[in-house]
Amino acid sequence: QSPLLHGTTPNAKNNFPLTGTAPGRRANATFITLARNSDTWEIAKSIRHIEDRFNRKFNYDWVFLNDQPFDEQFKKITTRLVSGKTKYGLIPKEHWSFPEWIDQDKAAAVREDMRQRKIIYGDSVSYRHMCRFESGFFFEHELLAGYEYYWRVEPSIKLFCDIDYDPFLYMQENKKKYGFTLSLYEYKDTIPTLWDTTKKFMAEYPHHIVEDNSMKFISDNDGKDYNNCHFWSNFEIGSLNWLRSPAYRDYFKYLDKAGGFFYERWGDAPVHSLAASLLLKKDELHFFDNIAYWHVPFTHCPTSEEDREKYKCSCNPKDNFDWKGYSCTSRYFEMRGWEKPKGWEYQMN
Ligand code: GDP
Ligand code: MN
Repeated sequence: QSPLLHGTTPNAKNNFPLTGTAPGRRANATFITLARNSDTWEIAKSIRHIEDRFNRKFNYDWVFLNDQPFDEQFKKITTRLVSGKTKYGLIPKEHWSFPEWIDQDKAAAVREDMRQRKIIYGDSVSYRHMCRFESGFFFEHELLAGYEYYWRVEPSIKLFCDIDYDPFLYMQENKKKYGFTLSLYEYKDTIPTLWDTTKKFMAEYPHHIVEDNSMKFISDNDGKDYNNCHFWSNFEIGSLNWLRSPAYRDYFKYLDKAGGFFYERWGDAPVHSLAASLLLKKDELHFFDNIAYWHVPFTHCPTSEEDREKYKCSCNPKDNFDWKGYSCTSRYFEMRGWEKPKGWEYQMN
């Protein structure tokens, strides 16, 4: 067997170490997980899925971040399961706390109001720090400094099909900046002023808004209103360099100043999605149809019977969320001018 296929070998083409049995080069990429020590056994399941279906042949690194120090058990179990290098980082305090311009009393009153209205995570401070961190800071962490692409993995997720190619290299070779599997409507009550704030940003920073954008995915009336469509950010394969660009950073800073992470409950999913839809060209987004994925309560299972056979998928095609009423993926297809894949009608309900 060629020495290039095993062990750590300098990669002639791009200098990234090549490990794992899959031939070919590697991208400069890592998995990234935000987790608590109490997530040990649920992230263990996620890692097992990613390794079995993909990474055992590719051996990409995995970066774990936490607002508290990881304990020995978390590190031991995850290092045991990941085939690439594992790295563990503490989140700096500034990235997980209230900025000085936030009025604490106002924020507390909002949480109490949302608690009474039973808005999901509406009364939680930590969930807000999490959403703000995932929106604006994870890509700034020093452990990610050397990487160009990331794949976000949460606890308790599942993969249902083999991934026999390298999605990171796919992103690189096709100049993709943001990849998703599932899309849906956000709860309006968590983001009442997100769109107005975004419209103000667009007016003040017109040079950041690209011409061939995906406005049609997020608005049904040319930008007057937000239709609440977003990509589900618990799965993301994306470009760190894009998130670290002036355009994205300016957008996050603008949102952060407006205070909606604390005065409302802005999620990182709509934030990333609005950014991807306005700051990137249509062609820089990618729908990973052949990555079959589950995060409670939604499944993405490839519509195509050929794909499900080719990639040895274990998902029930009836569970595929893409063509059901609460999914935004048919809007995405319409925006791209794509035909829906054969068999979609059988998965509508
Ligand atoms: P949901 O998917 O929106 O229901 O939210 P999750 O509970 O899955 O949280 C999203 C991600 O943030 C997961 O990767 C969690 O492990 C992580 N997370 C949530 N809250 C915290 C927290 O307080 N501290 C840390 N370190 N991670 C958190
Ligand atoms: Mn989750």
